Amino acid sequence: MTDTVFSKIIAGEIPSNKLYEDEHCIVIPDINPVAAVHVLVIPKKPIKMLSEASAEDQALLGHLMLTVGKVAEQLGVSEGYRVIVNNGADGGQTVFHLHLHIIAGFAMKEADM
Ligand code: 5GP
Repeated sequence: MTDTVFSKIIAGEIPSNKLYEDEHCIVIPDINPVAAVHVLVIPKKPIKMLSEASAEDQALLGHLMLTVGKVAEQLGVSEGYRVIVNNGADGGQTVFHLHLHIIAGFAMKEADM
């Protein structure tokens, strides 16, 4: 997989404000937030997109979801937030290193879906 901005951030080649980090993932604010809270949960393993994850990534994917809950609590938004994974260019993905968006801080309406 070719290097992306996220692999450079993980490697420390590009500075970032890490809100959370453990051996499997980092969480950083999105550079272009669409709501008051918009952060990205990024696995250190460079999986290109969700559809390229395999059975060996099962525990990692679970870890990312549990990290969402932990970080939502840390950010004070555990009452309500949205988790989004864009998969592939047709799914709106622009950075080809798997990541989960956590978005909160706006009233979620049907129209936003
Ligand atoms: P995607 O569209 O691939 O699901 O989301 C990629 C996200 O990464 C976008 O919301 C974009 O604003 C964010 N992003 C792109 N480049 C950077 C960067 O250099 N730093 C951070 N923190 N976010 C970035």
